[in-house]
Amino acid sequence: MEKNQVMRKLPKVAELLNQPEISLLCEKKGRNRVTDAIRESIDIVRQNLVKELKKSDYIETDAKDLMRQIMSYTMEKLSSSPYTLRPIINATGVVLHTNLGRAPLPQTALDRILKIAGSYSNLEYDIKKGGRGERYDHVRVLLCQITGAEDVLVVNNNAAAVLLCLSAIASGKEVIISRGQLVEIGGSFRVPDVMAQSGARLVEVGTTNKTYLRDYENAINEDTGMLLKVHTSNFKVIGFTSNVNNTELSSLGKKYKIPVMEDLGSGILVDLTPYGFPYEPTVSDSLKAGMDLVTFSGDKLLGGPQAGIIVGKRELISRIKSHPLTRAVRVDKMTLAALEAVLLFYKDGYWDEIPTIHMLTRSLQILEEQARLLHKGLTDIIGDKGQVKIIDDISETGGGSFPGHEMPTKAVTMEINEISAQKISERLREVPIPVIGRIKKDKFLLDVRTMTDEDIMKTIEMVGKLI
Ligand SMILES: *Cc1c(COP(=O)(O)O)cnc(C)c1O
Repeated sequence: MEKNQVMRKLPKVAELLNQPEISLLCEKKGRNRVTDAIRESIDIVRQNLVKELKKSDYIETDAKDLMRQIMSYTMEKLSSSPYTLRPIINATGVVLHTNLGRAPLPQTALDRILKIAGSYSNLEYDIKKGGRGERYDHVRVLLCQITGAEDVLVVNNNAAAVLLCLSAIASGKEVIISRGQLVEIGGSFRVPDVMAQSGARLVEVGTTNKTYLRDYENAINEDTGMLLKVHTSNFKVIGFTSNVNNTELSSLGKKYKIPVMEDLGSGILVDLTPYGFPYEPTVSDSLKAGMDLVTFSGDKLLGGPQAGIIVGKRELISRIKSHPLTRAVRVDKMTLAALEAVLLFYKDGYWDEIPTIHMLTRSLQILEEQARLLHKGLTDIIGDKGQVKIIDDISETGGGSFPGHEMPTKAVTMEINEISAQKISERLREVPIPVIGRIKKDKFLLDVRTMTDEDIMKTIEMVGKLI
């Protein structure tokens, strides 16, 4: 077709709207949305023609062909998801995967979010008095019961909790911390930087591997505003080490009337040693040992929504509440709705039903059953086009929790003839529900620890799209 003829052959929007398939789509998706998609598709085809005409004066096409192209773009536009934030399947075995959204919430928490976010609520309203109430009240009693704290404040995340506590309690004063705890967590949370931002002055004591009580005591003076302990999270000091325990540190604080705070990071609420985990002080252990303030995340080992939880002495919490930053890092009602639901699991003793804890404590026998289910589904699909095997492997907690602790797990390796592991991994990210696995020794691997039964079924379906 000659240059001047081509553009005239492009169909008009009205012509496309008369196509039977399009009429059907209009009923399903609405006429306006379909018309917009057609317009955008005509535009794409026009741009393509312009590009081609720059290269040559003659193009092999006709009106029918152009119509077909436009229809195909229109269908694609209307069927693709408009959302960029969407569910994926975590087959990495990393339970608290920060990039993949950390803790998945239990169903009851999701139901509570729907209920509270979809209507008005008593978020800051005291129903009994008929007047203003406090948003923090909804989780205060539960958190006090579970941790034994006098009072509680919940903010947007733990980074905000630490910054807020330092700003409210120690701004303009010195904060003493062991050199071995000046860590960076997850790339952007660096203890010295947070400290500087709060207006507190950092005083490092001890060495990277050893800090003694006398190191803290020698650094105390009239400018000291806080003794701070930070969980080293994703970092472990092993070998020739010495740390001051919480009881000693809190006694020192009491002796000099200086508040002692611990940033626990993950903030575990229950002891997981019966499940083979190394001992980690729970939030209530920390408070029992005499810590005046303890901060931790809502979406790490607790298994709840993103939040920063501050528990501790009433007088300190009340000073923190009245600091202007509190308003800037205020927690949202959806978070509170979910947090209340998750905390109820702990209060009632059903915490092993919270997805995060459930995934961490699954027995090898259950994992083996899951792996068999996945293995069978994948074998049925792949057949003689590759090889599927169940292997023993190791999964991680993630989120800076239990660093170095290895959890034996079951995984399924999937090899497909003539497709490299890298390529399988790539193609499984392009399917409607992306499946994120691991590559180990040139094999693509799916760790069932972080997969629900539903995830396993969906994964089989997604792999079906590659074959
Ligand atoms: C994870 C972590 C933080 C940051 O918590 P967020 O809830 O992600 O803001 C702070 N301190 C420690 C010790 C942590 O492990």
